[in-house]
Amino acid sequence: MTTENTMKFEAETTQLLEIMINSIYTEKEVFLRELISNASDALDKLRFNAITDKSLIDGAFEGRIKLEADSKNRILKITDNGIGMSRDDVVANIGTIARSGTHELVKSLEKSKSKDMPEELIGRFGVGFYSCMMVADKVTLTTRKAGEDVATVWTYNGGSEYSISDGTKESHGTTIELKLKDVDKDDGLDDFTSEYVLRNIIKKYSDFVRYPIVLPVEREEGEGDDKKTVTEDETLNSMKAIWRKDQSEVKDEDRNEFYKHVARDWADPMEHIYMKVEGTNEYQALLFIPSTAPFDLYSQSYKRGLQLYVRNVMIMEKSEELLPEYLRFVKGVVDAQDLPLNISRETLQNNRQIATIKKSIVKKVLSELKKMQEKDTDKYLTFWKQFGAVIKEGISTSYEDRDKLIPLLLFQSTADPEKLVTLKEYKERMKEGQEHIYYLSGENREVVENSPHLEAFKVKGYEVLFFTDPIDEFMVSGLFDFDGKELKSIGKGSVDLGSEDEKKKLEEVKDNFKTVLESLQKALAEHVSEVRISSRLTSSPVCMVGSEGDLSPHIERMMLQNKLDMPKQKRALEINPEHEIIVKIKERFEKGMSEEEINDTAQLLFGQALLAESTPLPDPAGFAKLVAKLMA
Ligand code: ADP
Repeated sequence: MTTENTMKFEAETTQLLEIMINSIYTEKEVFLRELISNASDALDKLRFNAITDKSLIDGAFEGRIKLEADSKNRILKITDNGIGMSRDDVVANIGTIARSGTHELVKSLEKSKSKDMPEELIGRFGVGFYSCMMVADKVTLTTRKAGEDVATVWTYNGGSEYSISDGTKESHGTTIELKLKDVDKDDGLDDFTSEYVLRNIIKKYSDFVRYPIVLPVEREEGEGDDKKTVTEDETLNSMKAIWRKDQSEVKDEDRNEFYKHVARDWADPMEHIYMKVEGTNEYQALLFIPSTAPFDLYSQSYKRGLQLYVRNVMIMEKSEELLPEYLRFVKGVVDAQDLPLNISRETLQNNRQIATIKKSIVKKVLSELKKMQEKDTDKYLTFWKQFGAVIKEGISTSYEDRDKLIPLLLFQSTADPEKLVTLKEYKERMKEGQEHIYYLSGENREVVENSPHLEAFKVKGYEVLFFTDPIDEFMVSGLFDFDGKELKSIGKGSVDLGSEDEKKKLEEVKDNFKTVLESLQKALAEHVSEVRISSRLTSSPVCMVGSEGDLSPHIERMMLQNKLDMPKQKRALEINPEHEIIVKIKERFEKGMSEEEINDTAQLLFGQALLAESTPLPDPAGFAKLVAKLMA
């Protein structure tokens, strides 16, 4: 039955392993933090599963992580009596890096060219287990899943293959045996078999881990002839819950290490938020905002949630009931006093206390963000760059938090290319007679900045916000107004900036152009809903304008690319009656144009309007031919 197999890693995994093996990242000791975090997770999993299946453990469950060091042979072993893995689990979890971001990680590491491990890159992708390749030439993992008899042995000693075979193991859990590389302090390779070194690493990174991390330590006992050396297991970590301590006495470094453990991040958090609530619904919460957004924050597979403890016992690893979707980047723990220990996921959803805790977490996080915005602009800008898009999501998805979210919004605008503005600042700068808050959507800053739609607004001196993030379009559905001023897209619907006199003049122009407009419209019936006189253009001849409820063309394109079913939208073509080419067209039209000439002219104007806003032309070759004809 025993089968030994040599198996090949996927190409990307091998690449990642090689990067790890050759890493010159100097804090190599973090490998131990990663392995201990995995061990602690495996213990949590067993404890959870044993609640419903007592047969998994014998008697009372006593989770423990054991370190064993053999200096002579340079071997370090890390053993947990957790859930363990089946052979299939090992192949799936250790043999492949299942995470969707691996490809991007390898790419970005290759791009950075140096073999140094940019901490935040590794952190964002979380290469936990593989970090032991930084310190070991050979890794042997022996594991037995709780409830099963056969153990699995996995070995790797470089290259693109690993071997896997059946084996034996006395109890459930996992042992990872590392054959350590030679000590080289300049390269971050300390003596990881030294009691002193191990003690320090555990204190530094894993002190708060909730299971004892033990190390057999030799002691002298007795006097004179009775003197002998005995070996005793010593627990290296305090296991103290950091959120239960007086926060003024907790060192930043310790809190940061706790964060890294909870969030599986390699970088320090941007901010921590502490809450201690007393009374009928007593709880403590220690929350963190990461310094960079995880790579999968926008993917379907991202799971939000906080660790939920009840009276110091962890009952859930990721409780999503404690956070709204748009705060999914927040990490941390909540420890509640008054919840039943056996609370299940289903009952959590309808629990009043949980709902109350969630509400106050939202309130607290949003008020801390506001504070950051007011007191530390640079930090807030960094936050905004990482998480602004998620906050914008909240505007359209969480109506109840809208009023607290709106002041947090920042936008690019026509006012200053370097600065982001709040709606409050925008409103304070509004010109006399300006009725609305104006915005323009587009693919990127360059496109919107050069858009013909801006012309009349520039002349008037009205500031226009730029919406260049795909989420912006959806956000508007929840934003619609600010402090009594409606938000209006200048790329859609009619604009009405003129005085009474100007409006009268416009009506006259419309009459004069009636037949020209009708002919152009006939020629473009397939592509546009209408051809009309523009009140928004001053220097360009033409532009495209959607109707009020339409999506912007770049969003429409994005949705079509994603194969989302939607009707094709037709927009209006607006022409500028004062532009010299329009004036010339009118003259020629009045002298008499052939049908072909009208057709060509219409196609040229339409193509121009699309190009000006970076929308791909429906028939680029045809357009090129027309331009060539015109030039000839
Ligand atoms: P992560 O812990 O971020 O998921 P790792 O590469 O560290 O990534 O581990 C991959 C997976 O391997 C884990 O999710 C877990 O399922 C499994 N694993 C790792 N270490 C252990 C362990 N000591 N006991 C049981 N399973 C483990």
